[in-house]
Amino acid sequence: MFIGSDIYRGSTYGPKHPLAVPRVSTVTDLCRAMGWLPEARFIAAPMASEDQVCRFHDRAYVRALAEAERTQTVSDEARAQYRIGADGNPVYPEIYRRPMTSAGGMLLAASLTRDGGVVFCPGCGTHHGRPDRASGFCYLNDPVLGLLHWLDAGLARVAYVDIDAHHGDGVQDAFAGDPRVLTISVHEAGRWPRTGAAEDRAGGSARNFPVPQGFNDSEMRHLLQHAIVPLVVAHRPDAIVLQGGADGLEEDPLSRLALSNNAHVEVLRAIMRLAPRLIVTGGGGYNPWTVARCWTCLWATLLGVPIPPRTTPAAEAVLRALTYNRAAGRNPPAHWFTTLLDAPREGMVRPPVMDLAVAALQETR
Ligand SMILES: [Zn+2]
Repeated sequence: MFIGSDIYRGSTYGPKHPLAVPRVSTVTDLCRAMGWLPEARFIAAPMASEDQVCRFHDRAYVRALAEAERTQTVSDEARAQYRIGADGNPVYPEIYRRPMTSAGGMLLAASLTRDGGVVFCPGCGTHHGRPDRASGFCYLNDPVLGLLHWLDAGLARVAYVDIDAHHGDGVQDAFAGDPRVLTISVHEAGRWPRTGAAEDRAGGSARNFPVPQGFNDSEMRHLLQHAIVPLVVAHRPDAIVLQGGADGLEEDPLSRLALSNNAHVEVLRAIMRLAPRLIVTGGGGYNPWTVARCWTCLWATLLGVPIPPRTTPAAEAVLRALTYNRAAGRNPPAHWFTTLLDAPREGMVRPPVMDLAVAALQETR
């Protein structure tokens, strides 16, 4: 199933914010235009209830989000305490309903997969959200809520694999030291939030892969085969969340990684075999063309449909209708309109990447 919502359509964090761009609405339109999203496969996410999100979040903080949406402003105290209207977490028209809908979508996905199955939630993946504050454009932490839902339903072990360009700090910290949970994060070394060092194992429950700039498809494959898959297999999870942030793609403005979207597809193909339950989320991704093409390829992969070399005319029209006010938007190359899969970006597997794979499998004390 594909869980989306119209809340994302037209919703923006403001014209100068990286999340000015449409993402989930474009993916939805693109999947439909490719003929891959019949109505029977689409579910509109419900908003979560306050009690549901308070399984992880602080109630006063959740109410502060509701208040910020109602008043479209924030007090100095709330800004200082909850980081609402600060640090790139703006007050915007849907500041309460949109994260509550992402949380509701994730909880629905976890509930739908209780007995097995696969769900795609491109609007989810807000991995920086903290119990009592906004962080890194994330107000709530929907991956944490989904994983908790599975654990509360009685699953013994779950895994979280995060290939966003930024460290999945909020999810890692939520489950630090919990032997039921394995959190894996591949992210650009030295990039905000600058946590997630290779030595940081969060009391045993985390493995981190801080990768160098220019990280390519071959290097992702190396980590996948030599570290990520063996680690997940050893954990024997009943269920997996894959956070498929698209900001590690070469054309993304917020990172210096150099992946093509073939890397995302390859990670998904490897991960989807490893547990009977899977939720694939979105995450970061700030170039509207590359994020939409990447996540549409993930949905095709989940469906098992081959990705054709050319977009359909309707899909091309969806991509041509996008506008983007950064430099990359002035002269978008034709293949952003006419293809979904990128050309592969293979390269040398550099020694620091090999070292990360070796270190992740070593026992520590
Ligand atoms: Zn990111």
